[in-house]
Amino acid sequence: MMRPMKDLALHALDAARAAGATYADARLARYRRRDIRTQDKRVNSLTDSEDIGLGVRVVADGSWGFAGSADLTNEGVEACAREAVAVARASALTRPGGKITLAPEKAQVSSFVSPREIDPFKIPVERKADLLLRVAERMLSVAKIRKTYGAMSFRGVHKVLASTEGTLAESDVITSQVGYGATAVGKNDAKSRNYEPPPQTRGYEIVREEDLLANAQRVAEQAVEHLQAKPCPVGKRDLILDPLHLALTIHESVGHATELDRVLGMEESLAGRSFATPEKIGNFRYGSPVVNLVADNTLEGGLATGGFDDDGVAGQRWDIVEEGILRGYSTSREVAPVIGQDRSTGGNRADHWSSIPIVRIPNLSLMPGRRRLTLQELIADTKEGIYIEGMGSFSIDQMRLNFQFGGDAFWEIKDGRITGMLKDVTYQSITPRFWASCDAVCDERAWVPNGVLNCGKGDPMQISQMTHGAAPARFRQVDVGGASETMKSYRAGGI
Ligand SMILES: [Zn+2]
Repeated sequence: MMRPMKDLALHALDAARAAGATYADARLARYRRRDIRTQDKRVNSLTDSEDIGLGVRVVADGSWGFAGSADLTNEGVEACAREAVAVARASALTRPGGKITLAPEKAQVSSFVSPREIDPFKIPVERKADLLLRVAERMLSVAKIRKTYGAMSFRGVHKVLASTEGTLAESDVITSQVGYGATAVGKNDAKSRNYEPPPQTRGYEIVREEDLLANAQRVAEQAVEHLQAKPCPVGKRDLILDPLHLALTIHESVGHATELDRVLGMEESLAGRSFATPEKIGNFRYGSPVVNLVADNTLEGGLATGGFDDDGVAGQRWDIVEEGILRGYSTSREVAPVIGQDRSTGGNRADHWSSIPIVRIPNLSLMPGRRRLTLQELIADTKEGIYIEGMGSFSIDQMRLNFQFGGDAFWEIKDGRITGMLKDVTYQSITPRFWASCDAVCDERAWVPNGVLNCGKGDPMQISQMTHGAAPARFRQVDVGGASETMKSYRAGGI
């Protein structure tokens, strides 16, 4: 039988110290995954996996070293710790005189369990399949619908983190997701429509069966309507963006742009660095005064809410953009001191026991407007615009400045009324200009905590998740039409 996870973690620390580490942390993590995917009226994939392992991260000779192992015998744990120290010593040779300095942090002794009413791992696969197939049947009963998909994904992560500074923390987090979509096929065209309720760190209770069934026909009919929609106009339009669409815009143009490792040039893979450099903190106008973007890794049900990060720093809430002004970054204990910050915001996360933690976008949300405003009132107040729902394709440059976004569905607004659907809509802008054009955000009644489960970063790439809540918001006079060919779909992989 395996020794308790805490014992193994402490054993790894002893071995790392004995090998010469001046700092060490040991992360024992067990991952469970149950995914089901349907295509049309059949189940086309089932995933049922579980694995457990150890990651040991050390500082020795002033450099980082890391090693991971699935061998959780005493000998395996010791070998893993010794390898991490050997890697650190080898790394030190390439940067003589370099020294890792970590922002100080109190030892983290805590435990965290994500809220859950129904354990998704106890729901039989037949029940999940039955629901997705009933949804598919409803969508396929609509004429011109030729293809559908349905998906549910449940992940459980049980983690113990111990460090030579006295941290001994444990967490158990379940993430649940459900979604589906339909594709309508016409003469020379095919168009899709998707339904994706917010994924959350909660249980099977987020799978609201009645709601999923109730939306199936609407989704299918909108795919067909999308097929017959007018093409995107070219010119300037007022855009009203729904919360799910805004989740991707926030992610790409604010989230990645304010990861401090990117800002410092320490992370350049996957649309690289950032324009939001440290001298801009406190004075740079990122958006209009109605734009408040708040990071909150204590948000209940948030995809990045886990009690503490892999540096052992507790979840926090802080401003990234306050009344339009750039205020802060997402940091780790390593990068925070580089710009003189005395504490990490707690954003260092690894996607697996075999991965080293990297700076991650937190739960980062556009806060609701302070004045009472509904989506209907916002549409009624818009003369010539486009209302966009859902995530689509996107493209953004290496400095997180110039971008282009599509969407999942588009409606034309004329004189305060929706007049019909549009297709192939894209818009182009520059990050601060775009957020400066935001003149209204609906109030908290319309705020929805959407998020992403496939944020790709690092080399080799790691996948992480975070919530991006928003209420519908309006952006004035944005360039639409004239799509470039280089956009990528958010469904195609890491985003
Ligand atoms: Zn991302």
